[in-house]
Amino acid sequence: MSLAKLTIKEAHEKLKKREISAVELTQAALKEIEKKDEKISAFLTLTSELALKQAKKVDEQIALGESISPLAGVPAAVKDNILIEDVKCTAASKILENYVAAYDATVIKKLKSAGAVFVGKTNMDEFAMGSSTENSAFKPTRNPVDTERVPGGSSGGSAAAVKADECVYALGSDTGGSIRQPAGFCGVVGLKPTYGAVSRYGLMAMASSLDQIGPLAKTAEDAAYIFEAISGPDENDATSQSKRPVFKADDVLSEPLNFKKLKIGIPKEYFVEGLEHETEKAVRGAIQKFEDAGAEVKEVSLPSTGYALACYYIIMPAEVSANLARYDGIKYGYSKPERDLFESYLATRHEGFGKEVRRRIMLGTYVLSSGYYDAYYLKAQKVRALIKKDFENAFKEVDVIMTPTSPSPAFKFGEKTDDPLAMYLADIYTVPVNLAGVPAISVPCREGSLPIGLQIIGRHFDEKTILQTALAYERI
Ligand code: GLN
Repeated sequence: MSLAKLTIKEAHEKLKKREISAVELTQAALKEIEKKDEKISAFLTLTSELALKQAKKVDEQIALGESISPLAGVPAAVKDNILIEDVKCTAASKILENYVAAYDATVIKKLKSAGAVFVGKTNMDEFAMGSSTENSAFKPTRNPVDTERVPGGSSGGSAAAVKADECVYALGSDTGGSIRQPAGFCGVVGLKPTYGAVSRYGLMAMASSLDQIGPLAKTAEDAAYIFEAISGPDENDATSQSKRPVFKADDVLSEPLNFKKLKIGIPKEYFVEGLEHETEKAVRGAIQKFEDAGAEVKEVSLPSTGYALACYYIIMPAEVSANLARYDGIKYGYSKPERDLFESYLATRHEGFGKEVRRRIMLGTYVLSSGYYDAYYLKAQKVRALIKKDFENAFKEVDVIMTPTSPSPAFKFGEKTDDPLAMYLADIYTVPVNLAGVPAISVPCREGSLPIGLQIIGRHFDEKTILQTALAYERI
């Protein structure tokens, strides 16, 4: 068995007992990449040298008898929109093809001080816009479970790398489902933290009021370790200035879930037409297991669900159009000089950005323009408040909400590329969570055939309960 198949927990135990070294573990992951990545294409950049250097340092600490954190020496992959100093960072866009990061994102700084080992940067939809990695300017990633199918997106490279044991865990970003949906499609665990729980400093912004960085891992337990390491306030991101107590993975792990005290809500608006039969069966089967174990299951209502996608596809592009204005061919990245500055902007942005990114910049510019702002953007903000209220009301009655992560399992390449609306519809269960800012985790709930994700949604800053619930599910 390849050492890269180990979970964080298992690897940590073996490292501490000196049964394996961090260098061996890292070499195992690099070997899997060498063996599989030509086919899977999970990675855009490999950082083998950096990884081995980091691993060696951890081995030295162990040799000196120093105590190490759970993530020390464990190989990780990082989505290519999160900055690692001196490593290329492209957001899978031609406009940043040769861009090298000048500093570490806060999450990277935190992971480095925890002794993390970075094996490479993973493929994604360009600037995180998409649900299949088909929007990468460089190559599509294949789903390791069935290589004819997409791994989901936009963190498709991260999910595929974890599934294929090319790393032990990975970081992704989630603006409307980009951690949970690929986790669901590839059969791994993906956590989207509460908005504000993890610093966004050093994450290439897509839609700033929705973006969150989070882990993709093999188990809920591993996700808890990673979340502990990356969460907490950061003076470089004002939205992360939460005064809440710091999350401790041990609180989740040492205190098993009391099923008899758990109230699970099933939103009636989510189990409707459009939900594929097998997916519904798997998700209902998972919920049944909780009920059998003593949990109370009741129907709840999230009445504004029907407006969520429309609301997201106004707010998100509005923020996209503002955030992506900085890629002008002057400050950094791809540049196409023309006879004057304006022509240069046009040519650079036309050639540097892919079709989906251009579509969203145009949509966003439109909904923010004078005369349309009130009709679209302002109205969408009001609807967003209603969506948030829906969740607050539901959480007065229940502790967690369970839904499918996506309406169907991984689709085939090309199946939805010609129909953007069909692609957008696949995000129906994940987008409301970002609009409300609450945390959610996707855990695999079908084995044997194409993976299906069970989404567990929690109250603001209650990652503890959803992680405990996910862990309990893995155990039953
Ligand atoms: N698939 C969604 C979109 O295309 C979500 C993307 C994301 O979460 N980054 O916008």
